Amino acid sequence: MRRISALILAFAVLAGCAGPKRLPPIVVEPEGPMGPGRAVPDLLGVGLLENELGVEIYAEGPAEVIDGHTGRTLLHLRQAGQRVACQRDGDTVVWRQEGHSGRAASVVLRPVDAGTRVSQGDFEYRGDFLVICSPVGRGLTLVNNVDLESYLKGVVPWEIGRHPAERLAALQAQAVAARTYTVSHWGARRNRGFDVFASVMDQVYKGSADEDEMCNRAVDSTAGLVMKEGGREIEAYYSACCGGSSSNIREVWARGARPYLGAREDGPDQSGQAYCAESRYYHWRESWAVGQLEEILHRTLPEFLDWVAASPARAKWNGPVFSPRDGSSDARQPGRLWNLEILSRTTSGRVGNLAISTDAGVYHVRGDRTRWVMPPASGNPFILRSANFDLELERDGTRLKRIATRGQGFGHGIGLCQTGALERASQGQDFAEILAHYYAGAALTKLAAGGKR
Ligand SMILES: [Zn+2]
Repeated sequence: MRRISALILAFAVLAGCAGPKRLPPIVVEPEGPMGPGRAVPDLLGVGLLENELGVEIYAEGPAEVIDGHTGRTLLHLRQAGQRVACQRDGDTVVWRQEGHSGRAASVVLRPVDAGTRVSQGDFEYRGDFLVICSPVGRGLTLVNNVDLESYLKGVVPWEIGRHPAERLAALQAQAVAARTYTVSHWGARRNRGFDVFASVMDQVYKGSADEDEMCNRAVDSTAGLVMKEGGREIEAYYSACCGGSSSNIREVWARGARPYLGAREDGPDQSGQAYCAESRYYHWRESWAVGQLEEILHRTLPEFLDWVAASPARAKWNGPVFSPRDGSSDARQPGRLWNLEILSRTTSGRVGNLAISTDAGVYHVRGDRTRWVMPPASGNPFILRSANFDLELERDGTRLKRIATRGQGFGHGIGLCQTGALERASQGQDFAEILAHYYAGAALTKLAAGGKR
């Protein structure tokens, strides 16, 4: 039934009719009031491996081993699969290929034909490989230098999944969000020798072997499109399921406000519920025996104290962290758990201030950090699904016995809600409408053309 109404609505959009509750369209600004879109470097450096003792790489066709600093060709590889083994010696990379070897400050493996892939382990990639001495350790770092659009084809299916054509608009919205995130974080990891991590530290990237036809279509059909606000690319965060309302970034992270990342209801949709309400993450429950949670808190509360102490901005954002029970209390030794209490909530209903009372004293944990302090006993996922939860405390007399959290959503809830976007696409919204909801006030802009390899 829903599928049929989505098709009718999709037809109405194609026919140019105004559907119910239409959002104002975003204007694409190739040469908008902020001037032409920003030009990005030809190649993005994606950090694949860091601090490895040894790295073995090869190409799927003829390639060259090049000195990364001088650009000089060190060796021609005429056949596919000829393996180049690299190791670190002091501040140089030592490379070996059958009877050949040499050393250089950095080594590049570049296919002769730009369409040839390079490989490491079970993964293959478009672009080149760069091997450098890890700036943050004693091993080697493997970087994949790749053009932005090819990179996104290795990101989108891992970040939002594989979906049929009627959900293409959500994949397009995801592609624009991932592209914008990349451009606004370009070079953020420069001290490590690359631009972005290939993991959840930035965005999951698994190269070219498992690309998805529909995701590639989403990347190609939105090529170069990013979102801007106030003349700059926005910080296009996204998460799996907002649980009914997105987060205001200022309330969940130790970060300043962003006008386009506020708390917004994700709906109601045509059936009167949140767009992400059918998500398997929409409702969840997690529980701990008191001894289990005490063991977890013994690890996570000191980690939380260290996290706050590592930055003045975090200390300011979190406010008072710990009130000792008496003069002999040690904040790093929480002891037994006495009580948990939600003292305040954010605009979107997430936990704003969680008081954790123990033998040592009372800890105050804010916003999204509550997820890190109370991870599931199973370790899966490795932090609590969301900060949008209620507490259920079971006591045996005055002593806590079991603690449960009953929550909604999966992820930090900032920006685009992936399951909400998929449902919006099914119900006929186009990608510009989807983005206009989750990043209110941001404008779509085309980047100046970058190089492609
Ligand atoms: Zn949602």
